[in-house]
Amino acid sequence: MTEQYQDISRIKSAELFEKAKQFFPGGVNSPVRAFKSVYGTPLFIERGDKAHLWDADGNEFIDYCCSWGPLILGHNNADIRNAVAGQLDKGLSFGAPTQLENELAELILSNNTYIEKIRFVSSGTEAVMSAIRLARGYTKRDKIVKFEGCYHGHSDSLLVKAGSGLVTFGETSSAGVPKAFADETIVIALNDTQALEEVFATFKDQIAAVIIEGVPANNGLLIQDHDYINFLRRITQEQGTLLIFDEVITGFRLGFQGAAHYYGVQPDIITYGKIIGGGMPVGAYGASHELMGYISPDGGVYQAGTLSGNPVAMAAGIATLRQLAAPGFYEKQEKTTAAFVDTLRSYIAEKEYEVKIFTIGSIFWFAFTAQESIKRADEIDPQSMEKYKVMHRSLLNQGIYFGPSGYEVGFISSAHTETDLEQTIIAIKAALDIVFQ
Ligand SMILES: *Cc1c(COP(=O)(O)O)cnc(C)c1O
Repeated sequence: MTEQYQDISRIKSAELFEKAKQFFPGGVNSPVRAFKSVYGTPLFIERGDKAHLWDADGNEFIDYCCSWGPLILGHNNADIRNAVAGQLDKGLSFGAPTQLENELAELILSNNTYIEKIRFVSSGTEAVMSAIRLARGYTKRDKIVKFEGCYHGHSDSLLVKAGSGLVTFGETSSAGVPKAFADETIVIALNDTQALEEVFATFKDQIAAVIIEGVPANNGLLIQDHDYINFLRRITQEQGTLLIFDEVITGFRLGFQGAAHYYGVQPDIITYGKIIGGGMPVGAYGASHELMGYISPDGGVYQAGTLSGNPVAMAAGIATLRQLAAPGFYEKQEKTTAAFVDTLRSYIAEKEYEVKIFTIGSIFWFAFTAQESIKRADEIDPQSMEKYKVMHRSLLNQGIYFGPSGYEVGFISSAHTETDLEQTIIAIKAALDIVFQ
């Protein structure tokens, strides 16, 4: 198959990667960047503008990774750049309150009926870790339930995978996580009401919270039915268990009010990250006045951060969310994405290729499967990732940058132009022809 490829030059990237390996484990500061699941050395990026990226070898790409989701306005957005530059003149951090925090909070809370108060942190991991502590502090219970196929950052309680059996204690999915922590996390399958009933029967009055991604989008795109989410809301409410929506991806992506609004479901706590900082490190969690009253210094649940609410990051967040709050922003994103996906689906149908494109909002995911829908992690065939690898290599060679793993979703930003999308469609068709030749 190799003669099909005229691989792009990765000489500079390879050199930089060799050097990086002396400094960082695996040569990277976050594991998936190491390109372990796809062909070749990772690309070292030099700059981005609108929907385009340039690497160290001068290759240009149309970017569908978008820094893993935050860049819903594309790279180098003028308003964000100006807001950040304006703040740089005034200082980078004070460790004291600033008006910018109020501004971002007001922008969020006055356009969101699902939370009343918010606390800013510096990453999605931190937001989720804090939300779990709040749930435990509020309910005075210790156990949490998560779903196989949902990612919630790398805090100890959440690096846990399903054990054997329908409802069992989790097993750690990372070395270094104490077994005692994993014992407090129960992992069940998505889209399974029976598993939920069983977990609450087995651990009656012990479960502080159930946490779910607004729409699971870290292990493929596992879109859940409204009925299931409604059931999840009902059973948690009946059991005195808090429902946490981890909206680190879906928040400000499925709409300004994220998945809560998409499902019309009121979670007890919502976590945010990624888009909220417009490319700067920001996370947040929000809930009712009552619940947030449990957070220090008002309440006894401790949570703090030296750089929390960092003024430069707040400036980037404000400039981002202002653009997203403009009327019609999300409708346009959705329409663009639907048209892109529809065109590709027609080609796939015509060629009878065994691949599906699942999509919601401006998120899409290529699944090499014959199934009409995939709602649970165990419905993804690991073998199908070999096909993704072939597609990924061909796309890079044609100047299209997708996430370096078949479990990752793609994102369309408002900076993707008609021309970008048309060029991408041509490239994807050619890549699929190679995969299925
Ligand atoms: C990315 C992500 C996280 C972790 O956020 P970081 O900023 O990487 O710590 C948590 N939850 C979800 C749903 C995510 O997609």
